[in-house]
Amino acid sequence: MTSPTALAGPRHACVIGAGIVGAATAHALAERGWRVTLVDAHAQPGRGESLGNGAQLSYSYVEPLATPDALKNLPKWLLLPDSPLRWRPQPRFSHARWLSEFVAACQWPTVRRTSEQLLSLAEESRRTLHRWLAALPGSAEATRHTQTGKLVIYRKPEALAGVQRQIEWQRAWGCAQAIVGADEVRRLEPALAATGGGPIAFGVWTATEEVIDAARLAVLLAQASGATLRLGRPVQRLVRDAAGRVVAAELAGGERIEADAIVMAAGPATVQLLKPLGARPPIEPIKGYSVSLPIVDDAAAPRVSITDNGRKLVHARLGDRLRVAGFAELIGMSRVLPPARIEALCQSVRETFPGACSFDDPQPWTGLRPATPSGRPQVGATRWPGLWVNAGHGALGLTLSCGSASLLADLMEGREPAVDPTAFRVTG
Ligand SMILES: Cc1cc2nc3c(=O)[nH]c(=O)nc-3n(C[C@H](O)[C@H](O)[C@H](O)COP(=O)(O)OP(=O)(O)OC[C@H]3O[C@@H](n4cnc5c(N)ncnc54)[C@H](O)[C@@H]3O)c2cc1C
Repeated sequence: MTSPTALAGPRHACVIGAGIVGAATAHALAERGWRVTLVDAHAQPGRGESLGNGAQLSYSYVEPLATPDALKNLPKWLLLPDSPLRWRPQPRFSHARWLSEFVAACQWPTVRRTSEQLLSLAEESRRTLHRWLAALPGSAEATRHTQTGKLVIYRKPEALAGVQRQIEWQRAWGCAQAIVGADEVRRLEPALAATGGGPIAFGVWTATEEVIDAARLAVLLAQASGATLRLGRPVQRLVRDAAGRVVAAELAGGERIEADAIVMAAGPATVQLLKPLGARPPIEPIKGYSVSLPIVDDAAAPRVSITDNGRKLVHARLGDRLRVAGFAELIGMSRVLPPARIEALCQSVRETFPGACSFDDPQPWTGLRPATPSGRPQVGATRWPGLWVNAGHGALGLTLSCGSASLLADLMEGREPAVDPTAFRVTG
């Protein structure tokens, strides 16, 4: 006998945003039998905030930005001219509310709870990504996916006690990490033997961490999902019916994409698109930068993914380039690329990996992390029937994308998800 669902045909979802989160959402929905239309203002998936990110699948490094230490260091970071953090106050109620929620989240019990929730979402993300890549032959090469491990280097010996406590705590959550001395650091990554910028005191080694090119992964997932792609087509508004249900996305030019479910996965632009409905998701853009440099001496460039804790910079090898990324600026939606920031990234590569890269053909980039005050993304239903959100992944959008896509798709199916959805529910 034919089921009513089969008679009616598959349900149709319109996913707005083909960044890493939207592309993964399209794939998760298609896997569950939905017909999907994936819309983006850019001409290709993964060209927004995912394009030049740090490429880290940081499954064991999920501590939010809002911690008591961050609060304590904030005045120092804000006053130093070359500080990795910058804040420009903005005369908006939503900005003030975001800041007050950020300060409220800077308490260890909140940090611990958030970290537990993010570790669980990250683990689901790892499982989902691995399953998807295994089903797509050639995908690891196409996305430059490697599991070379991550080494976080510390130059201040006094940081050791705090790091030990954190690692002990994370062990209970299944994270296998080891503190290693300076000699072991150089054995794990010989390219650090010539490193400048002060002696390395110790490192934290996580063998299971991975690297992947977010933009390539977004293209792969968007294509593999079989979604109808509407690229180069900005959505200008959401359309509601007389009963208040969100029923369509209206593109520039007036064309409407009608669907049973509309999913907002537009990164930081989610806020502007939801505003006309009266929704105020607490998502602020936190700007960062990266530069990808050609590797000219293979042995001098790292194979392992390296985070320099003091400078708050991550280094990842992607094909024949070394990408270094960092900085966190709460300064609004500006996409200006100040040469001083890119030079600071290049200088760090010169010092940390002397001779590894050429600086003649750099690929500089800036992006806006769509950040919530707590660091937890917003994933789930909204108070408007038909409208769902998957946004606000902050500094962990690549890491959490496949897990939050899976979580949202399960919620849309009415299935029990693998992670606790209450931690990620949509507010505002
Ligand atoms: C410097 C830096 C380094 C980072 N490093 C890492 C890292 O190493 N690991 C990690 O896990 N995360 C990292 N991140 C965070 C990560 O890049 C983001 O969290 C992630 O890219 C957000 O993905 P998204 O799909 O939500 O947003 P996006 O990638 O921006 O996707 C949203 C899409 O929506 C589209 N869109 C917007 N408005 C409209 C509209 N009106 N109509 C149609 N389409 C629209 C945009 O064009 C865009 O393609 C980093 C971020 C930065 C800035």
